[in-house]
Parts: sequence; structure tokens; C-alpha cells
Amino acid sequence: MDFFEKLGKTFNDATEAIDSKTKEISAVTKINSQIAQQDRLQSDMYKKIGKMYFDAHDEAGDFEPEYAEAFDTIRKSMAKEAELKIDLNTAKGITICPSCKAENPLTASFCGSCGAALAGIL
Ligand SMILES: [Zn+2]
Repeated sequence: MDFFEKLGKTFNDATEAIDSKTKEISAVTKINSQIAQQDRLQSDMYKKIGKMYFDAHDEAGDFEPEYAEAFDTIRKSMAKEAELKIDLNTAKGITICPSCKAENPLTASFCGSCGAALAGIL
């Protein structure tokens, strides 16, 4: 085998090794992606079950005591979010009509859409 034949064989062996490694990495990436997809599906369903449970038991308060802290945290978070939405509207210079949910200028006394009285400037 002359020099160029040896060089060609070495090059082919290296190319096959790279091709094999590429296929292996591709298979691992594909499986990791499928695992992540299943994890997301499970998380989404856990979240859905939690929301369904909260909605079914919040008003009556008929949940097991071990859920009390989570229920309390969710309620406090909802109240804080409502405050932040008012702050956001104030920052944007608007107020939301309590009757039809239309956006109105903060200075408006009545809704431009349905005519309902607005709370006015906070
Ligand atoms: Zn309105």
C-alpha cells in the first residue's frame, strides 16, 4: 500500500467514525427531545388537575387540610395579580369598564362603549 492509498484508507475510516458518532448523537438528541416532550405533557396535566381541584374546592373550602397553604398562596397571588393589573392600567393611562370590560381613559366618568359609570381616578 503506497502512501496515498494509506492516506485514503485513514480518511475513509475517520469519515465512517464521524458518521457513526453523528448518528449516535442524532439518536440521543431525538430521544432526549421525546423525553422532554413527555415531561412537559405530564407537567401540563399536573397543572390542569391542580387548577380543576382548586376551582372545584376553593369556593366551598372543602379541601383536605394539607392543601390549605397552597390554596392560600394561590388566593394571595390572585389578589396581588389583580392589584398589579390595576397598576398596569394606571401606568397605561386607562381604566377598564366594570360593566363591559372596555378600555377607557383614566379621566372618563362614563364608559365610552356602554355608558356605565366608571369608578373614576383612583
Ligand atoms: Zn362599558
